[in-house]
Amino acid sequence: MKAGLYIHIPFCASRCIYCGFYSTVRPELHDRYVDALCREMLLLRDRMADDPISLSTIYLGGGTPSQLSAANLHKLFAYIYKVFPVDPHAEVTMECNPDDIRRHMFSHLPVNRVSMGAQTFNDDRLRFLHRRHTANEVRRAVEGNKAQKMLFILHCYGSHFSYHQRYPREFAQAGRHPLRLGAQARASLGLRTDD
Ligand code: SF4
Repeated sequence: MKAGLYIHIPFCASRCIYCGFYSTVRPELHDRYVDALCREMLLLRDRMADDPISLSTIYLGGGTPSQLSAANLHKLFAYIYKVFPVDPHAEVTMECNPDDIRRHMFSHLPVNRVSMGAQTFNDDRLRFLHRRHTANEVRRAVEGNKAQKMLFILHCYGSHFSYHQRYPREFAQAGRHPLRLGAQARASLGLRTDD
């Protein structure tokens, strides 16, 4: 049976003022959490022994998966690939924050899509939202990993404090901004249904 695997990484370096997702700022729990995930995957495989699955998508979401150390990310992906058969063309996505991304960071990971919270390309607005990155760091994150040929999806949510209504031009321009970063970057403009 084909399946998609979602793993939640509930850790952030700090909390953004608009965020409703669960996450905690406790890096001392990273190792224990990753160990627990690996054990859970083994249990899941045993429980599904009569109806094995193969993965066509893998998604590390959060929280901020890019807060995990390289060792923990390698361990997690090694377990996923050891425990489950994975389609060779599987879509493998990792949510990242721009300020966590280092040059060639993905070169030893099977990730082919990065889902990145850019939010806006205005530094004043980013500071107000308690984002830890600047607009420039979004550009650097994409450009420093171009060799990997992965897709960067840059999310800009207009919902935060009705930003899309207060600054409609800026919100519309955010959608075009990734075009300057080349074919590997796409924008995703989001609003909630109650906005
Ligand atoms: S980094 Fe992402 S998950 Fe963490 S608080 Fe900010 S918006 Fe929420």
